[in-house]
Parts: sequence; C-alpha cells; structure tokens
Amino acid sequence: MLHLNYRNAAVQNNPHTTLVTATAPIANTTHGGRAKCLQRLVRLELPVPRTVALSFDAVQRIAKGELPDIAAIVSQFSKGALLCVRPSSEDPDWGGPGAVLNIGMNATRFEGLAARLGHDAAQAIYTRFVQTYAVDVARLDPDMFEDVTGGGADALQASLRAYEAELDEPFPASRAEQLAAVLKSMARAWDGTTARLLRQAKGAPADAGLGLVVQEMALGLGTGECGSGVLQLVDSDTGLPQITGRYLSQSQGRDALEGDAAALYLSRDPRGPSLEDLAPDAFDALKAHAALMRVKLREEMQVEFVIEDGALFILDGVRVVRSSQAAVRIAVHLAEDGVISQAEALMRVPPRTLSELLHRQVSHTAKRDIIGRGIAASPGAATGQIVFTAAEAQASAARAEPCILVRRETSPEDIRGMHAAQGVLTERGGITSHAAVIGRGIGLPCVVGASNMRFNRSKTQLIAQDGRVFTAGETITVDGSTGQVLAGAPQMREAALDESFQKLMDWATDFCDIGIRANADTPADAQTARNFNAQGIGLCRTEHMFFDPGRLTVMREMIFAETSKDRRAVLERLLPMQRDDFTQLFRIMDGQPVCIRLFDPPLHEFLPRDGTGQRELADALDLPLSDVTLRIEAMSEYNPMLGLRGVRLGVTVPEIYEMQARAIFEAAVAASVDGPAVVPEIMIPLVSARREVELVKTSIDAVAAAVRTEQEQDFDYRLGVMVETPRAALRTAEIAPYCAFLSFGTNDLTQMAYGLSRDDAGRFMSQYVQQGVFPEDPFHVLDTDGVGELLKLGADRGRDAQPGVTLSICGEHGGNPESISFCRDAGFDYVSCSPFRVPVARLAAAQLAIGDNIG
Ligand code: PEP
Ligand code: MG
Repeated sequence: MLHLNYRNAAVQNNPHTTLVTATAPIANTTHGGRAKCLQRLVRLELPVPRTVALSFDAVQRIAKGELPDIAAIVSQFSKGALLCVRPSSEDPDWGGPGAVLNIGMNATRFEGLAARLGHDAAQAIYTRFVQTYAVDVARLDPDMFEDVTGGGADALQASLRAYEAELDEPFPASRAEQLAAVLKSMARAWDGTTARLLRQAKGAPADAGLGLVVQEMALGLGTGECGSGVLQLVDSDTGLPQITGRYLSQSQGRDALEGDAAALYLSRDPRGPSLEDLAPDAFDALKAHAALMRVKLREEMQVEFVIEDGALFILDGVRVVRSSQAAVRIAVHLAEDGVISQAEALMRVPPRTLSELLHRQVSHTAKRDIIGRGIAASPGAATGQIVFTAAEAQASAARAEPCILVRRETSPEDIRGMHAAQGVLTERGGITSHAAVIGRGIGLPCVVGASNMRFNRSKTQLIAQDGRVFTAGETITVDGSTGQVLAGAPQMREAALDESFQKLMDWATDFCDIGIRANADTPADAQTARNFNAQGIGLCRTEHMFFDPGRLTVMREMIFAETSKDRRAVLERLLPMQRDDFTQLFRIMDGQPVCIRLFDPPLHEFLPRDGTGQRELADALDLPLSDVTLRIEAMSEYNPMLGLRGVRLGVTVPEIYEMQARAIFEAAVAASVDGPAVVPEIMIPLVSARREVELVKTSIDAVAAAVRTEQEQDFDYRLGVMVETPRAALRTAEIAPYCAFLSFGTNDLTQMAYGLSRDDAGRFMSQYVQQGVFPEDPFHVLDTDGVGELLKLGADRGRDAQPGVTLSICGEHGGNPESISFCRDAGFDYVSCSPFRVPVARLAAAQLAIGDNIG
C-alpha cells in the first residue's frame, strides 16, 4: 500500500492529478492544504496510504463536466483496493464537502472482504457505502432508507433495492464509475450557494479553489487489532500539553469521535481502557509521529490514524481546533520550544482573539436563545436581571444582584448605574455612542442600537424581535462580542489571562514601533491601563469626574451661578476634588505621560431632565421651580453636539478651564514630590479656530505662572489641541505653532466629516453596510479615504508648521487594527484606545511592524 513507485505516467506527468510523493509539484495554492500536508507527511516518511491529489483547476473542470483520466487515477492504487476522497481547500477553515469512504465496494469486493473480515463487517461497510453514495452523490432523499433497519444481509439488500427503485438503474459496480461520480458531486457541492456563503463568511475569496485527494483506504476493520481514531498533543480548550483524542476498534473515519461507548482513551486513563494498554507499540509510534509532525510542520496537529492488523497508518493531519486561550498558549509554547520564532508566534494570533480572552464569553457549546440583536459595542458577555434605570442598577448592586441596565440610550447621568451593572443594552446609539464608549472604557459588555427590540420603559418591558415580553427583574444576557441579546443565563467561559498572554504581550512590545496609550478617566481605568502596560494615558475625559453625586450638585450650582465671581466661588469647591483625581492618575501612571482633556460636553448635560430631578434641584439651590425649569429651557440646544461645548465653553466661561488647569498643575506638583517629575499634557477639545487656542493658552499659561509662584516650584507642561472638527484638521498649520501635540479625535471628526450623528447612526448603519454604501461602520473602522485624508492633511500641515509636534489619535479607532495600520503609515507617534483594547492594539501594531520587516 505504501510503495510510491509510479504506476501510470499520465498521473506522474499531470500537474492536475498528481501522485503525492516527496517531490511532486504540490502547493497549498494549487492543490489545497490537505494535499500539501499529506506531501509533508510523505516527506517525513510517515506511513501514509497512497494518495493522488487533484488540483483546483482539475476540480473546477470536473464541476463543469470535464472529467480527468479516471482510469489513470484508479491505476495508481492496488487492484481492488477501496478508496476515499476528501476535500483539500486552500485554508482548511473554509471547509468543503464531506469525505466519501469505501469507494469501490461491489459484489465481488464484498465477497473478498467477507472472507477476510466476516460477513457482518463486510455488510456494514457495503450498506454504509450504498447509503452514503445515494444521499451524498446521487442526491437522493435520505428518507428513502427510513425503513431499512438493523444490519446484515437484509439491510444491504434493502438499501440496494431502494437505490435501484429510485433511480431505475442498478447500483454502479465499477470503482472507476463510482469514483467519477463522487468527484463530480464533491466538485459541484463546492459551487453550491450555501457552501460559498459559508466559506466567504470565514474570509474565503469569491474564487477560492477546492482540491480533492483520492486515497487508498486503510480499512480499520478486520482481523488482529484494527480501528481508527484521532490524536493531538494539546487540549483544544486550554492549549496545555495533553494527549487528547479517541480510538475505536473496528471503525472507520471519525467514528471514534461519535460518542460510541466502546471508544477508548488514548493514553492510560483511570476512567477506562486505552489504546496504550491495547496496542502499546502502535500507540508509541503514533505519539512519536505526532511529535515529529509538531516540529516539522511547525504546528499543533490533530492526527487521523488507522490501525490495520496492528500496523499504524497516518491518514491525515489537520491543524488542531483551538479556543482563543489555546491559540495564544500554543503559539507561545511553539516559540518557547524553538519550533517557531517569537515573530511568527505573534503573527499567528489574530488580534481579535485577545479581546475574547480579556472578557467573559458565552461558552461556544451553550445554547443561544436569541431575543434581539444590536451593535457589538463592548466585548464580553454578562447575565443579569433587567433594570430600566441607573438608580435601579445601583440598588441591584447594593443587594448583590447582577443586573443588565436597559436604556433607550445612556447619558453621563447613567455612569454610576453603568458601573453598578454587569452589562448594558440600549435601543439607540452606535459604536461611538456614550454607552459604547463608556462600556469599552470600563470593560463592561455592551450592546447598543438594538432597534429590532422594543423598549417600553413606562411598562418596564422589553419586547423581543419574536414578540416575547421580558419585564424588569427577568434574566437576560448581553453578548457584547456578537451583538446578540439572549434570554436567560447561558453557560459562560471566564476571561483567561495567563502567563502565555503576558509573554505574548512582552514580545509584542519589543516589536511595536508606534506607541499605545489608553483612554482612561478614572483611577480604576488608569490601573487597568497600567496592568496592560499602556505607555501613558492618551485621553482623560474629565467631565466624567463631575457626575459623582457629591460633585453633581456643586456642578449644577456653578451652572446656575449668575456672575463670574459666583462661578469662581463654586469652582473653588470643585478644585480640591479635581486635584485629588489628577494626583491619583499621575501617581498610578508613575511618570508615564497623562493627557488630560479639558471639559468638553455642553453644560446642560449636567441638568436633570425629568420633573422630579428638577424639583430636587430647586430644593438644593433654594430657587423657585419655575426659575430652574426656565433656566434649563434656556440652555437647551437644537443640536448640542454642535453647540456650546468644548473650547467654546473655555472661551465663554473661562473659569472652568482655569480651575481645571490649576487642579492639574497643583496635582503635578503634589505627585512629583514622592514620584518621578510629572509633565502634564493638557488638551483643548473641539477647536476650530486658531484664536480659540491662543485665548486658552494665554489663560492656562497665566495659571501655570501663578501656581509656580504660589508653590515655589517649577514644572513643565505640554499644551495640545484635539483635532476633531474638519476645520481644525485643515488649519493645523496655524494651530500647531501653539501646540506640543495634536491628537485627532476621530469620533467627532468622523461625525462631522460625514455629517452623521454618532448617536443616531446605529439606526441605519447595518443597512448602509449591507447595501455597500459604506464598506464598514466608519465609527468603527476609520474611513481612510475621507476622514483619513483630513488626518493626513492635518498631520502634514501641522508637522510642517511645528516640526517635532507629537501626533496621535484618541478616537475609538485607536484600538482598531486597520486604523492602527493607517496611523502607523501616516507617521503618527501613538494611538490611544480603551484600556481593554490596549493588548489588541499592541499585537496589531507588532504584526504590522513584523509584516513590514518580512515584506
Ligand atoms: C473624539 O471625538 O474622537 C473623542 C475621542 O472625544 P469624545 O469621544 O469624548 O467626543
Ligand atoms: Mg470628541
């Protein structure tokens, strides 16, 4: 069976139907991964049954009805040997039609096998082949064998009769005829719509090819020890070394994995008999072959094997299926064992795999009762009881009851509720909406824009896409990795950060050639950023610091203050709180840069929206309710995102920025006493004109001078501008001379470049992407054509005007691998993203650097 002499020159010389030998012209790109792997096994002199590989081209022609020289193929195999055909696509993940075994079964062959294996075994093979052929090749209805029960001669005859009755012709007896039909049906199956959609979903190109391999069967049935099984050297879930697999005596294909109680463990096992006990020599050889394959194929492989009368055959090797945790561990262990380089280990882990590792996930074996879908806004899954307000979320947390905060959309007022909840679900919003940004920042699973569910807050009901009604207190699960909302509490898989993850991150740091900072607003965020070795904070959104109940009232008092003097007096009370916030951040970051953005949102976001809140505010400020409501009405804006916010507040209500600058400088002085000298970075948001920067800079310089004098302490600071309006991007030449850095806020820049509200885009984004209007959600993946052009223009003009100016992005795109690639090419110094995306960003950046070196 194993002699590889050429029996037919037509096969030897034909690049499209090639006998698999050590030197045959076989490549992944022409014959597929399986054929190439088999050739490698042949080169390792492993006991591989004789195999002929059919190229993509040959298979394409077969699909069109142009058969290769079947006689030449058949002549490569022993006379009367049974054959099998298996798919060989370029990437094994793209799948392919199921294997067909035992081709060549007919009455004559049956007699021979019956004499060798006994009637029962021969009948079982024959019956199985007839039925598989009828269904998979002749495309007959599987129900036609419904009445065929039991085994033995009756079942075989009944199956043959059913076939003949259905097709009005006898079951084909010739091996060549059977093989031709099998090849045709497999070639055509690859072209079917479902198969095409499935593989395209896995990233296969539209013209992905299929190869086929025809292999002489090692039967796994007969006298002496016969059987089949699979073995791998690692556990697919954990990636830890462990011999895993099953073996079933008198079986074929993957029968051993079908849950048959008679299937054996491989290595000695207290739970039951093992292959190691039954056939120690074959087991030892198998282990040695698998270890050799790991080293020579440079991958953890699952070995498909057959034992025939004690002799071992290796039928195939496929890349071990692996969880995210196992993917990281396997890559790191292979590099540690010197099988692959560190660079290759880094290249083998898709960055998104890390984001699965960093969060709890719904287990892939769990049943999913999907009740709605939205945008997967912050990865990870969480289960809890439905609550409809932030206050209820806090109450649930106080009772130690996990909850999911369900809101139409969230606002800064909901932050404490979000912290208290296990997950968040919103009806509206897109990938850069408030809920999404905060969710990613604090590692909270979040689904936004679930517009196919109805949110009836007055009745405290959530109505599923299929009409099921869920009320407050019922348990649901949000899966922020897929965007699904599920009923109940499916089984979860915990986050899995282990030493392999840490090692991979360390290696990534060595290769990275662009900085990775984190967007962090609170000490807890900063600590997470530190734990992931972020190289500083690229964006601290200070407004989030004002929503603490103790501060909110003071903030509101400040908003209601009539004069600048009154405002300053109230801000005096906020100053120590802010100073304390910044001191903590500086201390945690221990000398790493911290970029603090001055106050950005419109002030009315801090005012209560409902009657009760307004009454409470009137009480707290000792004002008539009507004064409060009138003031709130007066402050409301038609288009708050484009209204009085960011630097516009800094210019028109300068006391706020002055207080913040003072808090930053005093904190820097305080933190520098017992730590490395802090050089704070202060960032001005929503700039659109040079003069805005000039005004704010003058005022901040004055505050710095005052603090230096008061504290008798010199310090440096860096002032920069957040480039997030198209005009600022176009005018960086006149803005940059005032700046040490320019940081592109790609959330607002995308919003304004498209004229598309980041909070409302979720309502139609999926339709837009489906219809190809946008290739991707531009809030998620940077639009390198339009917004990217603004970035490039801004960067070039800024650099020309102020050589050495630091360039970065701090919008949500900072954690997206494609967007990181753009920033790297544009010569940016760093990207800044949510703390939990730092590892993903770092790995993506390392891969880009390695890719450039290889290329
Ligand atoms: C931005 O606009 O890109 C940004 C980072 O700021 P925010 O998301 O707070 O508006
Ligand atoms: Mg912004």
